[in-house]
Amino acid sequence: MKGCKSEATYRAPKGRGKEGQFFWFCLDHVREYNKSYNYFNGMSDDDVLAYQRDAITGHRPTSPIGVRGRQARAARNAWTGMVDDTFGLFGGQDPHPAPEAETRRISAADRHAFEILGLEPGASKEAIKSRYKTLVKRHHPDANQGDRSSEDRLRSIINAYNMLRRAGYC
Ligand SMILES: [Zn+2]
Repeated sequence: MKGCKSEATYRAPKGRGKEGQFFWFCLDHVREYNKSYNYFNGMSDDDVLAYQRDAITGHRPTSPIGVRGRQARAARNAWTGMVDDTFGLFGGQDPHPAPEAETRRISAADRHAFEILGLEPGASKEAIKSRYKTLVKRHHPDANQGDRSSEDRLRSIINAYNMLRRAGYC
């Protein structure tokens, strides 16, 4: 990002027709870019619909009728191995997102924030909010006779929660 002095260690796709090409940003700017990134820019409504329909079947030929089990699974695995869904382009459409794709796009910092709250990475909005409330009550200095260590713990809980909120997890 022009004028930004931070080290650009995060990559973002340039867009449709430029698959495999990336911009490099710092963490703040990659988040900003991802928020405004729209893969469907310039596509007609019909094209977008066709694309989303394909995304549901995974942009792969549907398995011939009667092919089940190992063979079908192998076909699917071959396909999922090809897709880099780091930016969750298919997240909203795929009814069976691969779990590894789900966790891979959570940054290390956000992952750590989940850990501080004692949650699995990518826990739901509701889970985050309710865990946050519980922890704040539990570690509030008033509930711990002003114990300093619980004050520190409370501070890290609040920081973790704010980080997840800024990242849009809750
Ligand atoms: Zn930057």
